Amino acid sequence: MARRKLIAGNWKMHGIAGDLGEITRISMASETLSDIDTAICVPATLIERASEAAPGFVIGGQDVHAEPRGAFTGSISAAMLVDAGAETVIVGHSERREAFGETDAQVAAKAAAALAAGLDVIVCCGESLDVREAGNALETVGKQIVASLPGEIPEGKLSVAYEPIWAIGTGKVAGPDEIREMHAHLRGELGKARGETFANETKILYGGSVKGENAGDILHLDHVDGALVGGASLTADQFIPIMNAA
Ligand code: PGA
Repeated sequence: MARRKLIAGNWKMHGIAGDLGEITRISMASETLSDIDTAICVPATLIERASEAAPGFVIGGQDVHAEPRGAFTGSISAAMLVDAGAETVIVGHSERREAFGETDAQVAAKAAAALAAGLDVIVCCGESLDVREAGNALETVGKQIVASLPGEIPEGKLSVAYEPIWAIGTGKVAGPDEIREMHAHLRGELGKARGETFANETKILYGGSVKGENAGDILHLDHVDGALVGGASLTADQFIPIMNAA
């Protein structure tokens, strides 16, 4: 079956009000590309203003707390993301798994909270260089993604992003065989865990040093249904060529 491609940007800890013009330009370009979905996940402080700067364009958050409210200083609930204008959220990014010790179970709980609030969710997974070099990438990432999925997943609301940690922000892209093999493996594991229909409908994005120059090659590999883009999502000049390559 044909899965629509999703090109999602992850601004990480970049962006202030003066950068909103990039989102406006990206959103205008997206209006001419009706065959793909696009989104930019901005810092929480920008969600509301980005939504206003680009009406109709999908703005997302980069993390969410699993609880609906409470004494969690600095955290943001799913309802707060929705209230600010977000329509999607990234959970389980390797930078959060590493820096904040987020476990698969916590990532699954965050995804559940986001879905319950009506958000779309991008669940990230990916192996370290040590794991890749030890030959354990497929097994490790397969287990990681299955353990990071919430119990209930409404149809079409969840995407997976495979991001090898050694390829994030390094300029090193996984090779076509590595990407194809991992994406096929992940679809197989999703099928075993949640059934063929779910596996066939779920987008599996690739992330890690995606740029305009390599996007075409990556995005047309089997089982690659889009990209999660960090550095090259910060400007329209870099992001629009990736959208055009999809
Ligand atoms: P990068 O980041 O495109 O800058 O490598 C990707 C990501 O971390 O989502």
